[in-house]
This record gives sequence, structure tokens and C-alpha cells, in this order.
Amino acid sequence: MKKAIRYLRFSKQGQSVCSIERQEMITDNWLKFNGVELIDSFVDQGKSARTFDRPDFIKLKEFIVRHHKKVDYLVVDQLDRFSRIADEAITMVKGLQKTYGIQIVSVTENITFDYDTPGSYFRAGLQLLLAEEENINRSVKVRGGIYTAKTVKGRYTYKNPPFGYRKEGLEKARILVVDESQAKIVRFIYDSFLRNTPIYLIRKQAEELGFTIKGNMAIERVLKNPAYTGLIKATSHQGAPGGLFPGIHEPIIDRTTWQMVQEKIKRPGKTRTVIDDEIPLRGILKCHCGNPLSGAPSRGKSGRYYHYYKCKHSKHNNISAIKAHEQFLKICELMSLPTGRVRKIRTESRESIDRELEFNLKKVSEKKKQLQENEEKLYSLEEKWIKNEINKDTYDRWYSIYNAEIISLRGAIERLSENRSLAFGILENKLDMLTDLRYVYDSAETLQKREFVSLVFDNNLYYENQIFRTPTMMEILSHNHLKMRDKGLLIYDKKEDLLLKDPLSGE
Ligand SMILES: [Zn+2]
Repeated sequence: MKKAIRYLRFSKQGQSVCSIERQEMITDNWLKFNGVELIDSFVDQGKSARTFDRPDFIKLKEFIVRHHKKVDYLVVDQLDRFSRIADEAITMVKGLQKTYGIQIVSVTENITFDYDTPGSYFRAGLQLLLAEEENINRSVKVRGGIYTAKTVKGRYTYKNPPFGYRKEGLEKARILVVDESQAKIVRFIYDSFLRNTPIYLIRKQAEELGFTIKGNMAIERVLKNPAYTGLIKATSHQGAPGGLFPGIHEPIIDRTTWQMVQEKIKRPGKTRTVIDDEIPLRGILKCHCGNPLSGAPSRGKSGRYYHYYKCKHSKHNNISAIKAHEQFLKICELMSLPTGRVRKIRTESRESIDRELEFNLKKVSEKKKQLQENEEKLYSLEEKWIKNEINKDTYDRWYSIYNAEIISLRGAIERLSENRSLAFGILENKLDMLTDLRYVYDSAETLQKREFVSLVFDNNLYYENQIFRTPTMMEILSHNHLKMRDKGLLIYDKKEDLLLKDPLSGE
């Protein structure tokens, strides 16, 4: 009596499932009918047929190596149980017979694979190739479906919604819906990033607010995700271009903010600054040589710690943080504006807002015209491509140029059409603060202090010979700059060469 071993694998084909029980029944029938004795069965549950790394398949091979002399047949219900990849499976089937003299039987396809009979070999090969083709078609269909869903229908096709959204609806009608409590945190992350808050601090604060995404790059991923501005990213598919496409879901971040963040992310990373409340100007205040001053505590004679700002060149600045802060507060005092001046600003800014509004209206109509031109260019590009007048590379290149231009123009239109009166209302309420900048600075949090200093001095605040120096200062706050110089607090000299005597020497 001839002897057989059997290999069964649970497999999902399309939506239908071929169960182990069914395969068992079919192969049992074959064994009975042909009077073959079954000596062992190997069963793989729920693994893909793409590769041979399946636990029972490995055991099967080991068994064949050891006992092949006792075995005449290897019985399967279908040949592609071995592998979805045809040539891999053929090699496998061929090897089993050549090396071990075992014939492979595909029960449902009614093939006894015999390497020495050309017809049988051909049929087996064909069977496997057909299985593979079906498999390829299926995956092309799936990918094509995703592409269309993204580009044409603007659907978000990933399994999990991004933080800030939840999914609503069933199957194909499922869309992203803004989860307002999470969306607030997303907006906070974008705003903080634009305000130069270091990523590690954004993360800490976001977590306190309820940000739940873990992982080292979680914040960066939020900042880069186009879904937050209502865009869907699609990879190119069968000649159709990839890129960003408008989604159907509501954005959390306006297009301008999103683009500003992308620009900023692209810039080479600044050195990471750790925020310390004792030395708020660390990394912002620079030495006369141009290097940002670092800050550190050092132990005094009494055992107490004192903070210092110092340059990496040992002979340069090494100043007491307390002294520098006192000095800076006095500068703030002198930057404060008299009440009369603030009143004047109020009227002037109201007028300038009106002018801006008028100007923006003009700009908007200009941009709309440009937008239309670009959309027309994109349209004729597509026509050329359809008519085969340009090749795919050319098409792709120009497609991404026009598409980027269109996205940026839409952002500009959105920004310019914004109603400024709300922003002006806020500004108007805060204007009085300009009369007491010492208080404003002193009561601000460390991050705000840093932002304030960068803004007022346009990132150019230096220290030399016990005096702050700057070539750039907000004009309106510099009205007392001569007084500041007389008191030895700050030298505001617009001539840059006076300050950066020799910026290249580093000494
Ligand atoms: Zn220095």
C-alpha cells in the first residue's frame, strides 16, 4: 500500500474562507478512493501563503528530509497552498520530487505532479501561475480602490483616525469628524511649534492637556500630517500621480498655518534648548562673538547656587543671571510707552487695519486670478498627458509644481479673506500693556519671555562689557534708547558692523 502525508493550510480567498475541515474531507476522499494510507498531517492555521516561513510547513520539510523513503505522495487540496508566488512554489514542488521522490497530489485540481511527465509539469505550473495572477489582480484592485478613494472621493482610508478626529458612518460612507476636545490639543501643538517652543516641551504640555499618542516622533508626526489641514496623501498608482489631494473632512488647522509649519520643519534643526526658568534667556541672548550664551548654576561660598550666562570661549562673557535680569527689566521699563502714545497707536492701528483690509481685498482678487490660471494649466497638462503628448515624468513634475502652487494660493486667499476685526479687538484690549512692559515681562512665563525677546530684538540681542547690545529693535519700543545707553543698559546701534566687529573670527 502506498503511503502519503498531507499538508493543509487555512486560507482566505477573496472573501470566502477555505476551512481546514473542508480540505480534510476532500483529501480524505482521494486517499480512500486511491487506497493510499495517510501517515501524517501538517496543518498551518491562518498564515499567508506568500512565504514558506510557516510553522507546520517547516515541520513538513523536516519530516520529508527524515522519512522520505517511506512516503510516496504529498497530498494537498490545491497546489497554491504552497505559495502564492508561482515560481517559488514550482521550485518547491520540483525539488520535492527530484530530491526525495515524492509526488505531489493536488486533489481539487486532480493533478498528480510528475516531474518526468511534461504535460503534468506544465499543468502544475499553469495552475500556480493562474493562482498568482489572481492574487496580483486582487491586490491591484485593492490599491486602485484606495487610490480612487483618496484622490477622487477625498476619503481618509487609514484604519485609525488621526488624533483629533473620530470616524463616523459605516464602510464607504465612513468619514473623519472633528473631535473638538482633541482638536484643541492639535491646534495647541501647531501654535506652540510656530512660537518656537521646543518639541520636548510641546509634548509635555500636550500630554498634560490630554494628548495620548505615544512614541518619540508623536509630535513631529502630528505636525507633518496633511489630514489636519483637510488634505489626503496618495501615492502614485499605475501612472496616476501621487501627492496631496483635498479631503472631504473638515480641517483642524488652516492651510496657512499648516504650510508655515511644513516650511519650518524643513529647515535644518536648531540646537535643542532646554528651558530653565532661572535662565530664561539661555540660547537667545548671544555673546558679542555671536555664540548663544549657555546658562548654568554654580555653587557660591555660602553653598547656595547662582546662575550664570556664559560663552563657550572662557575669556568672553560670564555674567550673573540675576544681574542680567535686573538690567533687562530696566530696559523693559524704558521701552514702555507713555499713555498718550498708546492712545495715538490705537487710532493709527484702527486706520491701518482699514487700509490693510482694503489692500487685502485687492490681493484676494489677484490671487484668485492666479489660482484660476494654475487650474487651467493643470487641466491642459492632463489633456496633454491623455493625448500622449508628454511622458509620465514630465507630467508628474509639472503636476506637482501646479498642485503645490494651487494649494499655496488657496492658503493665501483663505488668509487674506480672514476677518481682521477680531484680531484687532484682542490687540486693542492688550494695548494698555504697552505702558508697563516691565510688569508684562516680569509676570510672563519663561517661554513668553523668550518669544518677547526674540520678537522685540529680532533675534539679535548681544552682551558685551556689561551692556546689552542690539542692531535691530522694534522701532516703536526704542524711543528711549539714548536714555538706555546713558544708563549703561542697552546700546541700540543700527550699524551692524559696530556690534559684530568680526563675526567670522569667532573670537
Ligand atoms: Zn563669546
